[in-house]
Amino acid sequence: MNFNLEKTAFPLQRKGPLLTIIMDGIGIGKPNEGNAVFLANTPVLDQLFKAPLYAELNAHGTFVGLPDDSDMGNSEVGHNAIGAGRVFAQGAKLVNQSIESGALFNGEIWKKLVSNVKKNNSALHFIGLLSDGNVHSHIEQLKKIIKQAAKENVQTVFLHALLDGRDVGETTALVYIEDIEKLFSEINKNNRKYRIASGGGRMKITMDRYEAEWGMVQKGWNTHVEGEGRFFKTAAEAVETLRRETKATDQFLDPFVIAENNKPIGPVQNGDSVIFFNFRGDRAIEISRAFTEPGLSRITRKRFPQIEYAGIMEYDGDLHIPAQYLVTPPAIDKTIGEYLVHNNIPLFALSETQKFGHVTYFWNGNRSGKFSEKLEDYFEITSDLVPFEQRPWMKCADITDQCIALINSGKYKTGRINFPNGDMVGHTGDINAARISVEALDICLGRLLSAVKNADGMAVITADHGNADEMFEYDKKTGKPLINSETGMPKAKTSHTLNQVPFIIYDPAYKGEYEISKNIGQPGLANIAATLFNLLGYNAPEDYNKSLITFKRS
Ligand SMILES: [Zn+2]
Repeated sequence: MNFNLEKTAFPLQRKGPLLTIIMDGIGIGKPNEGNAVFLANTPVLDQLFKAPLYAELNAHGTFVGLPDDSDMGNSEVGHNAIGAGRVFAQGAKLVNQSIESGALFNGEIWKKLVSNVKKNNSALHFIGLLSDGNVHSHIEQLKKIIKQAAKENVQTVFLHALLDGRDVGETTALVYIEDIEKLFSEINKNNRKYRIASGGGRMKITMDRYEAEWGMVQKGWNTHVEGEGRFFKTAAEAVETLRRETKATDQFLDPFVIAENNKPIGPVQNGDSVIFFNFRGDRAIEISRAFTEPGLSRITRKRFPQIEYAGIMEYDGDLHIPAQYLVTPPAIDKTIGEYLVHNNIPLFALSETQKFGHVTYFWNGNRSGKFSEKLEDYFEITSDLVPFEQRPWMKCADITDQCIALINSGKYKTGRINFPNGDMVGHTGDINAARISVEALDICLGRLLSAVKNADGMAVITADHGNADEMFEYDKKTGKPLINSETGMPKAKTSHTLNQVPFIIYDPAYKGEYEISKNIGQPGLANIAATLFNLLGYNAPEDYNKSLITFKRS
């Protein structure tokens, strides 16, 4: 592979290193009572936000390879886009590609789950949202995987169908149920037992998120695993009956269990394999924990069946939930780090445990290890093991101390660090802790930037996605915070946000040699890498997304 880089026609003569600072979870939100970044006292950030070399970048949806612009970004896909300088398919797109290429079925986990049911003469279960909404799942993906199971002679398949009616028409469940029943009856001609075993509305069971209501997961567990609930002969009968009786739309339909001779046909048993087939993570995490965490206290499990469980994707890259998944993250090649070492540029990567993998593994295109032992140094500072809201400054001072030492060593031409503050404390939903976390970060930024200046270096300050910038849930119509009925306080928002993120070039020796480009349309995280190449004195590789700066000819 060719890793040659051309020098730019306009090299900047800075003696010191170029430092990239990722402020994890610091997005640009509305200036309101729920924005911890806005509320925090941040003299350094305030100055940076007013600087001339400032841009706002998209860090969500299609800008990071996710199927839809309603998809929040996350640290994994964000660091992928930053380090690769291009957008790679993630989420739904990635699953489609993995099924089409056969990679999913050639993977270790698929083989393990299939051989597990063959060895035990047991059942392969599929649980997930049955629709073509393409937000959480897609029925065509499910059908292709089920067909492959039949092809590989899996005798028994049970589908636990969560009804949508939210990303698709509100009473469309029977369309998808018929579609699947048709496929099953085709497969069952060959003496197989492929059946819908249970189900229920997505807002009633299984698909809770952000630990808002574990009771939903409890109901899902009782329905899918225990086979407890109201019995019906078929899923269609269940939907028709429940609609008639409750007038509920699909997403709110009560759980149902398919039974024969007054016994559930497909509860989850020891020795079975279970696949959760939603590709989107937020509503897949809790049920995955229920299947895989023996000590989980949030729900009551009469049995904890010994099974092989896999998600179609990894749903939480920070906590590695679940441990097994069918589709591996995208194959990303020729990242900025790989180019730099081929061009003999010494560099470092640094963060605390929580995000160390993000400035190394994810930045390097989901690649473990270094490209060059000689040219690269990676440093991990051990994170605190206390709830983040109890120590919201996290390890930002330690990261800063070490980073300043690395800058002063004179050994490196470039480096990258991640401050997890905005994200990890943002996830706690504690706005006061998040504000303190951002203030601690600001003090660290001030120290870092003066070290950069003293070394005659430059810094790029940005973020991978928003989080601390929206700590409350808002009513979409009134724009007012939603109120938690128990506490009377605004309802905490613990997720990432869809907001843009800041991008600032800190260049103390700047003499107007370049400026932020005005013609890149809608810039995103994938435009950062080309910019870093330019600041280091190189033209970016041609297939990279455009640089955010243009040099002035003078
Ligand atoms: Zn996060």
